[in-house]
Amino acid sequence: MARYIFVAGGVMSGIGKGTAVASIGRILKSKGFKVTAIKIDPYVNVDAGTMNPIEHGEIFVTDDGTECDQDVGNYERFLDENLSTDNYVTTGRVYQAVILRERNLGYGGRCVEVVPDIPNEVIFRIKKVAKKTKADFVLIEIGGTVGEYQNLLFLEAARMMRLQKPKDVLFILISYLPIPEKIGEMKTKPTQTAVRLLNEAGIQPDIILGRSRVLLDEPRKRKISIFCNVLKEDVISAPDIDSIYEIPLNFEKDNLGKRIFKKFNLRARKSKNLKNWESLVKVIKTAKRKVQIGIVGNYFETGEFTLMDSYISIIEAIKHASWSFKRKPEIFWLSAEKYEKSPELLKELKDYDGIIVPGGFGSRGIEGKIKAIEFCRKNRIPYLGLCLGMQLAVVEFARNVCDLKKANSREFSKNCQPVIDVIPEQKVLLKEKRYGGTMRLGVYKCELKEGTKSWRVYEKQKYIFERHRHRYELNNEFREILERKGMVMAGINPERNLVEIIELKNHPFFIGTQFHPEFKSRPLTPHPLFREFIRAAIQYRRR
Ligand code: GLN
Repeated sequence: MARYIFVAGGVMSGIGKGTAVASIGRILKSKGFKVTAIKIDPYVNVDAGTMNPIEHGEIFVTDDGTECDQDVGNYERFLDENLSTDNYVTTGRVYQAVILRERNLGYGGRCVEVVPDIPNEVIFRIKKVAKKTKADFVLIEIGGTVGEYQNLLFLEAARMMRLQKPKDVLFILISYLPIPEKIGEMKTKPTQTAVRLLNEAGIQPDIILGRSRVLLDEPRKRKISIFCNVLKEDVISAPDIDSIYEIPLNFEKDNLGKRIFKKFNLRARKSKNLKNWESLVKVIKTAKRKVQIGIVGNYFETGEFTLMDSYISIIEAIKHASWSFKRKPEIFWLSAEKYEKSPELLKELKDYDGIIVPGGFGSRGIEGKIKAIEFCRKNRIPYLGLCLGMQLAVVEFARNVCDLKKANSREFSKNCQPVIDVIPEQKVLLKEKRYGGTMRLGVYKCELKEGTKSWRVYEKQKYIFERHRHRYELNNEFREILERKGMVMAGINPERNLVEIIELKNHPFFIGTQFHPEFKSRPLTPHPLFREFIRAAIQYRRR
């Protein structure tokens, strides 16, 4: 029988609710339980696929091809579980399902109302996940902040669920405690107000996680306890940290796991606890020798903060791989556009140990990226191309090695030699403007060619399964000339005969993938492509 833990946020957004939920999950899993997590986003979009990553952060893709919020990626990384479309709920999804059911007479002719029919649909979805996964714990993160209009119906669902199953539902509030500079003291009032707002929605939190710059001291915990109506032991410190992977360990310092078990009247099972997680955090904190990776992309009018959010899975995959070599990763954001204007700057690429061109859409910075790839190819700098980064590696090779001067991707030029092109079914979708959820999405099979570097990277497996998110593909009409000139098609999707991996011989590491390996990297099991890329980068650094 599943237990449900709802997590809501107080005071303000951006306080790391997603990583907190993921960390709670890791703690419970480490005590021998099966855990799953659901992200509820209040927006009306059916999924995150149509959203701008600069504004919304990375679009994470699950095995089944759901384009979802980046928090689902955090859940996967911390829980080390593959999640599915059921683990992601939006207002759009809920209303769409209710309206469709109504149209099919699913409500037997009665009046369908916002309350209780909308919260009931939310509850139905939560229980469905519990049933399907057979999890002991289902964590549910309610997006947004308490007190706003957008997430009210989700809080209502939580309240109704507690009413149905009082012993199996727990509420956690993650709140923020500011330390105003001039006052120099941690203030609890905003958190008290947040609890009141939650009370107005009929919910009393059982546990409060206090996010702040530093640990919560005793007086602060006491104050929150009295004014927010929770036990002092149930006020848990969540201070700022350098690495998100420290969060579970920090929560455990305040016995979060034990407190949750106590509330549910449960006992921890025999298990390894957080042992290997602790070793990982030790490496993160002590690794000194560096590996420096440059990411060539479009960086404009954004602060570092948004960048980190738009590329979070790539950043994490680089970290996981680097830590597995006990290296401290350093990531540098290199603007592709500057290489267009001043190609003499390209030589700075030699200062990095490896270069990545990540996925992307639109023509901005494309020529600069192609120049950077050419430089990596000619100067034997380890190169990993992800999706767009693979497509542009093909364009570069076609232009400069195969002498196809007008080679390009059809995405950027209508009249070109389209070495990258749309496949016929995508053409129809684009013409009809059916954009939402229609790219090649999710896991596809890839057959590795024996003897290639990629085949060795994947430990000589015949088939691998990786996640996709793109419309364009390597055009098979150009395959012959590309291969003749030395490009190796190292991975092919057997069902559709589509190229999934390209690589170059006589280069320390030059691999491009049509898929996104970054989505499957986990802190304790780095993705093999990132691991071998970092290995090559370390070797290159030693030169
Ligand atoms: N824009 C390219 C395509 O649609 C690449 C997409 C990506 O990098 N995810 O195929």
